[in-house]
Amino acid sequence: MNRKTILIVGAGVSGLTAGIYALKSGYHVILLEKNPSVGGLCTGWYRKGRYLDGCIHWLTGTNEGNDLNNMWHDVGALEKDTKIIQLGSWGTFEYQGQKVTFWSDLKRAEKEWIEISPIDKKEIKHFFKMVKDIMSVDLPLDKPVSMMNPFKVLKLGLDVLNVWPSYLLTMRMSCEQYAKRFKSEAIRWAITHAQPGAGNLYSMLFCYGTIASGNGGIPEGGSKAMVERMKNRFLSLGGTLKLNTPVSHILKKGNKAVGVVTNEGEKYYADYVISALDPHYTLNHLLLNQYSLPKFEKRYDSFKKNPTPSCCMVILEAKDINVPVPYSFECEPFYVGGELISHITIRNHNYDKDTFVKNGKTIISVLIDQYSEHYQYWNKLYKENPMKYRLKKEQLGLLVMNKIIKKIPEMQGNIEVLDVFTPKTLNRYTNSSRGAYMGFLFTKNKGMFTHNGMVKNLNNFMMTGQWMQCPGGLPLALSQGKFAIQRINKIEHIKTALSTNRVYKKENA
Ligand SMILES: Cc1cc2nc3c(=O)[nH]c(=O)nc-3n(C[C@H](O)[C@H](O)[C@H](O)COP(=O)(O)OP(=O)(O)OC[C@H]3O[C@@H](n4cnc5c(N)ncnc54)[C@H](O)[C@@H]3O)c2cc1C
Repeated sequence: MNRKTILIVGAGVSGLTAGIYALKSGYHVILLEKNPSVGGLCTGWYRKGRYLDGCIHWLTGTNEGNDLNNMWHDVGALEKDTKIIQLGSWGTFEYQGQKVTFWSDLKRAEKEWIEISPIDKKEIKHFFKMVKDIMSVDLPLDKPVSMMNPFKVLKLGLDVLNVWPSYLLTMRMSCEQYAKRFKSEAIRWAITHAQPGAGNLYSMLFCYGTIASGNGGIPEGGSKAMVERMKNRFLSLGGTLKLNTPVSHILKKGNKAVGVVTNEGEKYYADYVISALDPHYTLNHLLLNQYSLPKFEKRYDSFKKNPTPSCCMVILEAKDINVPVPYSFECEPFYVGGELISHITIRNHNYDKDTFVKNGKTIISVLIDQYSEHYQYWNKLYKENPMKYRLKKEQLGLLVMNKIIKKIPEMQGNIEVLDVFTPKTLNRYTNSSRGAYMGFLFTKNKGMFTHNGMVKNLNNFMMTGQWMQCPGGLPLALSQGKFAIQRINKIEHIKTALSTNRVYKKENA
């Protein structure tokens, strides 16, 4: 049994994952989190007695047997009896009265799209072929590539090679650019607006393929229940969790990290320190601006070329009516944080009745895209005029509510805003830079970004989290949390097999 101590800062999905795999490897683990609860960006909260969910639209890795699914079970995010909800579609997009649906049943979607626009038949067939091609590659995420079995690397290479034309076309093309290939304006509009957080065509097809293959279900109970299960797994393995404990900076001895100091001045010592939070915050605050990560900073500083997605979200309680989930429609354009918004996507959470429906009323959320460049607006407003900031949030809530009523008149008198958050809220809650909720996007000009989390001239220190591999999101927060421990195990010559060669079967399967 190895009893070296690993100290982890940040109990988001990545920090919890690192903590659990460290405990499984035999380390003593201390996890420090600034907030009163775990989860970071993957969270939910209560307003007026209603549960509001702030994260999971889909969880990649819900199909039994793949690496991610095994890892979600390893860390307790999914348990044998966790019910996975599958939505019938990735969304219905209505443009000038015509509805285009991204059905999970690809055959049905293809047929319906061709009926909508027979003239686009060839392009539609090609679109669905690309979705299937991209779905066919099972990305191995249980080990960093440098530690992967060469046969697995070879298999991945061959799988990608097999569908290479689809990769080549989609990696370097924006959805907007691609949409122009279609004659149907409704299909063009749907393809352009399908993906929250924009990104390139590859990400869009990957997300759609994930939903269509059933690998992007939603665990019943939502985000909060999921991270609480992870917390329980961490505690049951003997980890020490300190909530309400913001870390001020990393303690060093020479060129070695030896612990941390909290905002309260308390010191914790360890053999290894992992920062499982935003790298920009880590460099500037926890590491007191004394180290640099050139590869990361280069992208971070040119944020117009390397956008990260953020959002405002309006959450409402409403009469539970029958609309597609999610349902997107055009609206009269309005500005949010400097971005012109011309559509509303409503997400009726009634797919999980026990969690979201009460007395015939459901919870609806509306995510409004914002990017790195819009953060400044919210940050300035918050700092210079907190009253005006609050007022802006209220106005945004009412604006969105009225747009929903205009589209669905039966909502009149049956809908109420419960909460509104902005990029500034995300930044305040988790220290995420510019309120980003994911890492760097794949764009048409910028491809893959990965980082091993090591900082030059600082030993026994590592970064992890969604930023270490673009575009971030829950699956990469998970895998990067595991990678950090695999890297430490390698340094420590620990041969614990944290492999995922198991298949977690459903209790009732
Ligand atoms: C609205 C929304 C919808 C989303 N939908 C999806 C989705 O459908 N699917 C998907 O895959 N992903 C989704 N995401 C993204 C997902 O939530 C993130 O990718 C993931 O949670 C990031 O995890 P992380 O552990 O890397 O970082 P974080 O969650 O940012 O964790 C960092 C942790 O460190 C803590 N911390 C920060 N500073 C300190 C300090 N000084 N001391 C101590 N602790 C500190 C923070 O409080 C936080 O708990 C969504 C996010 C949002 C906001």
